[in-house]
Amino acid sequence: MASVPGQLLRVLLRLLGAFWSSLAPFCAWRRWGAPIPRRVPEAGVVARPVPVSVNYHFTRRCNYKCGFCFHTAKTSFVLPLAAAQRGLGLLKQAGMEKINFSGGEPFLHERGEFVGKLVEFCKQELKLPSVSIVSNGSMVTERWFKRYGEYLDILAVSCDSFNEEVNGLIGRGQGKKNHVKNLQKLRGWCRDYGVAFKINSVVNRFNVEEDMNVQIQALSPVRWKVFQCLLIEGENTGEDALREAEKFVISDEDFELFLQRHKDVSCLVPESNKKMRDSYLILDEYMRFLNCRNGRKEPSRSILDVGVENAVQFSGFDEKMFFKRGGKYVWSKADMALAW
Ligand code: SF4
Repeated sequence: MASVPGQLLRVLLRLLGAFWSSLAPFCAWRRWGAPIPRRVPEAGVVARPVPVSVNYHFTRRCNYKCGFCFHTAKTSFVLPLAAAQRGLGLLKQAGMEKINFSGGEPFLHERGEFVGKLVEFCKQELKLPSVSIVSNGSMVTERWFKRYGEYLDILAVSCDSFNEEVNGLIGRGQGKKNHVKNLQKLRGWCRDYGVAFKINSVVNRFNVEEDMNVQIQALSPVRWKVFQCLLIEGENTGEDALREAEKFVISDEDFELFLQRHKDVSCLVPESNKKMRDSYLILDEYMRFLNCRNGRKEPSRSILDVGVENAVQFSGFDEKMFFKRGGKYVWSKADMALAW
């Protein structure tokens, strides 16, 4: 007959054995390094997108008059610097890693000082990995590069044609200023001041036949973004629009032919209408997200009033399409292997 202490010991050992068996799957799972599963939102709850990459169109004013412009000068409002900085801080807290300043023309307001201060703030204070600007390039000065160049990762300059007559037809230009010569000057400053140089082109009725291979290879941008001309109700089409862009629109087939002609340019990143429409997080001059899902820009409330998490739900942002179009790329100049 077994003693009482012996029985107790056996019971204890059995309990311990059961405890270890229950841990076994967990131990094996950790040992093989399986990823910890992501928290899935409860049924019926829509996951909010994280605003990893944001385009802040802080001004709508521009010195050019491109016929297909899809962010037109419907207001002349610009937030005070402190309010814009507060909004950028909120976005950083919500997960922003990349900010792109756009317009209108970002260098028009306070002759580039405003965008310069925002760029410096985002790099110095917020320590964002990537800070970029999209500009038509006509108002950028070397003085600006000297003062703010070190805080800027990427300067994207719009160029739709290397033929000045075509630029004139599109509305890209100002009197006698030569858009193409200016582009070459900007390329040089980007090299001199350590800023990655990017080119954005919109393929439309007037440049669709053009062969840009030689000029693009010579300018050697880190990225050449090629967009298909897009209609947005209320901006460049429809009754309350400031432009009538219908005559600029091209078919998907024409866009494909343009891409084929430039297939040897390795930095080319194409963006069809389908890819473009919902895959950008756009903030307007009041820091409202603009939802383009219905073919027009419908604003959320301002992040300054309701916070980022509330506003971003109304952004219409398609996170999957953002990743599919390669929205996340090497976007910090510190990570780019470039021969300046
Ligand atoms: S440069 Fe850009 S913002 Fe200005 S009119 Fe042309 S497309 Fe619009």
